[in-house]
Amino acid sequence: MKKNDFFELEITDIGADGEGIGHYDGMTFFVKDAVIGDRIRARALKLKKNYGYARVEEILVPSPDRVTPQCPIHRQCGGCQIQALSYEKQLEYKNRKVLNHLVRIGGFDEALIRSLMLPIVGMKDSFRYRNKAQFPVGYGRDGEIATGFYAARSHAIIPVEDCLLGVKDNEEILFRIRNWMRMCKIEPYDETTGQGIVRHILLRYGFTTKEIMVCLVINAGKLPYQDELIEVLSDITGMTSISFNINRDNTNRILGDTTICIWGQPYITDYIHLKQIPTDEQYAGQTFYCEDYQDADNAIAYRISPQSFYQVNPVQTEKLYSTALAFAELTGQESVWDLYCGIGTISLFLSQKAKLVYGVEIVPQAIEDAKMNAHINGITNTQFFVGKAEEVLPDFYAAKGKGKAGKDSEMLRPDVIVVDPPRKGCDEKCLQTMVAMAPPRIVYVSCDSATLARDLKYLCANGYELKKVQAFDQFAHTGHVETVCLLSNTQRPKKESYITLDVEMEDYYRIKNEGKNSTT
Ligand code: SAH
Repeated sequence: MKKNDFFELEITDIGADGEGIGHYDGMTFFVKDAVIGDRIRARALKLKKNYGYARVEEILVPSPDRVTPQCPIHRQCGGCQIQALSYEKQLEYKNRKVLNHLVRIGGFDEALIRSLMLPIVGMKDSFRYRNKAQFPVGYGRDGEIATGFYAARSHAIIPVEDCLLGVKDNEEILFRIRNWMRMCKIEPYDETTGQGIVRHILLRYGFTTKEIMVCLVINAGKLPYQDELIEVLSDITGMTSISFNINRDNTNRILGDTTICIWGQPYITDYIHLKQIPTDEQYAGQTFYCEDYQDADNAIAYRISPQSFYQVNPVQTEKLYSTALAFAELTGQESVWDLYCGIGTISLFLSQKAKLVYGVEIVPQAIEDAKMNAHINGITNTQFFVGKAEEVLPDFYAAKGKGKAGKDSEMLRPDVIVVDPPRKGCDEKCLQTMVAMAPPRIVYVSCDSATLARDLKYLCANGYELKKVQAFDQFAHTGHVETVCLLSNTQRPKKESYITLDVEMEDYYRIKNEGKNSTT
């Protein structure tokens, strides 16, 4: 086999990024846009020793699970890897991905995981779910100003009038901005020459408030024809915030450090409702669950600025957070850590049912937002720390031994630790300290099931038992899956019956290895 050879290939599996996988001539082939069950004529692209990449030349026999993608340019745009797979099969695939990772990487027994897994929570409507979109700006092939997406694995712009994952309002906003650029002769940024002004257009939409934010990322210190831009955008229904962000670096990073609001407020507001999670009876016999959850309680308001991290799928986020909260089994008396807390989204959600919540986050601006969000909701039982979870938590724990904990002592023995790390998962130092703090429950929210499996393996080798696993589809038509897990401590006795000992972590492990119980 050599590059550009044609061959017939049966697609028998789906890869980690949603690509099709088939075997031919002792080699494994990864094929973008091929769906499990397809029989295709493939063309070899890149070849390695035991595996290679191929492209679909022709679909000879389509898979029974293949659907006609709703987006006409889904193949060129790298965004939706599995739009050609029926939504039901997408959910099955994501659930299987979590299961496989837990078994292969986590070393868990497959039957055990199957018995712990609740049905994956899918979306009732799998399009138009994103509240945030970032469109690069450039010239299209016709020489006209184009807003769109980068083609898969490249920086060529494919003009997109309307992305089906985003809200419909985006189309009109982009149209008006392109017109403003044409009228005022404002050039798009050209990354090869470093010339031109407008790089990206960031749009956010508050699903519950219908508030709209527009932020132009520009390669300049100030925005030319600012008043004209305000004039073309400000009469759009829901327009709440218009700003520009300065990014003059030759970088792949979209946003620079400085954002200047030129009209309206520097933020939009959105609400996250606590939902009633389905009962076991409602789940019974289902392999996936796509119904809406009922509202259960008050909503929490969040202010979102252009630079804030905020979950992009607000409908699913309510279900995800409500599940994390239910797994935490709070009664109002508990002390809780929320590690990797971002703008305090989960912390504030938990604070409704806990005595005290401490949040830790690496981005200082996010912590400022978290404090502001606590304030606007009148929440007073949260405290936020800037820093790495793997430093803040161990430092806090070590302070106890030196008698510095004072009123914080109950946070040294929290009832629950919630973690929601980025894709790389938790640092081992962070996991070590969590184990040493020995909360009765750990709730792990994960956006990467491979690192989740690795971290669960560690926790379960150190006194925890996996109790529940549930996958959520936050990103329909892409290969990503979100997971929430509950772990419980098999060694820590009930709160009333232990006396805390001042042990440093090394002692903890020594004592534990000697088979003594360090917490009694
Ligand atoms: N729980 C939040 C944010 C989750 S995203 C929410 O649901 O909205 C993960 C967060 O972890 C990001 O805000 C990121 O800035 C932060 N982060 C990344 N590495 C970190 C580290 N080592 N310590 C603490 N926070 C970190």
